[in-house]
Amino acid sequence: MRIGVLTSGGDAPGMNAAIRAVVRAALDSNHEIFGIEEGYKGLVEGKIIPFNRSMVSTILNSGGTILRTARLPEFTKYEVRKVAYENLKKYNIQALITIGGDGTFRGAKALSELGVKCIGIPGTIDNDIASSDYTIGFSTALNTACEAIDKLRDTSSSHQRCSVIEVMGRNCPDLALYSGICCGAEYIITKDTKTSKEELLESLKANRLQGRRHAIVVVSENLYDVHKLAKEIEQFSGYECRATVLGYVQRGGCPTPEDRLLACRLGAYAIDLLNQDVANVCVGIKNNKLIHTEFALALDKVRKESKELMGLVNKLA
Ligand code: ADP
Repeated sequence: MRIGVLTSGGDAPGMNAAIRAVVRAALDSNHEIFGIEEGYKGLVEGKIIPFNRSMVSTILNSGGTILRTARLPEFTKYEVRKVAYENLKKYNIQALITIGGDGTFRGAKALSELGVKCIGIPGTIDNDIASSDYTIGFSTALNTACEAIDKLRDTSSSHQRCSVIEVMGRNCPDLALYSGICCGAEYIITKDTKTSKEELLESLKANRLQGRRHAIVVVSENLYDVHKLAKEIEQFSGYECRATVLGYVQRGGCPTPEDRLLACRLGAYAIDLLNQDVANVCVGIKNNKLIHTEFALALDKVRKESKELMGLVNKLA
């Protein structure tokens, strides 16, 4: 079989490890494998290159994606997807492995409706694919966030300040929740913790009056303007306060062993599934077992907040 592989949407550390696994496993099963550059945009533009074994030799531990990534909002249009389909047909590529987040899976689902056998591999730092316990990139981003928060605690404690730190995770609070717990944040604000701004301000003021010298507040992306929030905390609570947006540093870096292992397992599993003529599913991991889920089902699921982890937030603060 001729198989294509692409990375799409937001990049995540470990995407390269997943590309390598797909390429090596495909060649091991005597398939031909093609890289499609710049996601669906490159597919529509015909940026298709044949892969061989040595082209993925040194990428297992590198961040980013050698295939680059892009966004193409027009891929929602049938006539645009038809161009992508024709380009695959030109190369006689029957199956496509797409590495990315939920948007990428929506694109793959739509393309599969034209007759392409698609398999999705979850690659996103947000951990927002509910059909898998973990997504490729989450572990590395968590490490990066924790390293930064630990450093910010050092300076907050020295200066007796409150530090408000915004971490990524558009639709999923996992990065904030996990990093907040791992770094002993006094407050973790996500859409699920439902702590209101008023409660936060009152609580900080009370803590300050009790003599607590510094505080770490981890906030999930898209909930507050953290710079404004820091000003309000200063005015209300008595703490001097600084805000830091961790931003895109969370997307980069050398993937952790956990992300590399997950990428190797999911990449090889995607090829196993194609060998068994299973397609139009995304792969994932549940309780350390490889699983696959139909795109429609996977896209319907929303990750439930972990009651156990949420319980730790107040208990250990
Ligand atoms: P991620 O995969 O990280 O969630 P995006 O949401 O940006 O990233 O999606 C990546 C790409 O997937 C989009 O730029 C678009 O080309 C394609 N895509 C997203 N949603 C759809 C959809 N409903 N139908 C077809 N293609 C889609």
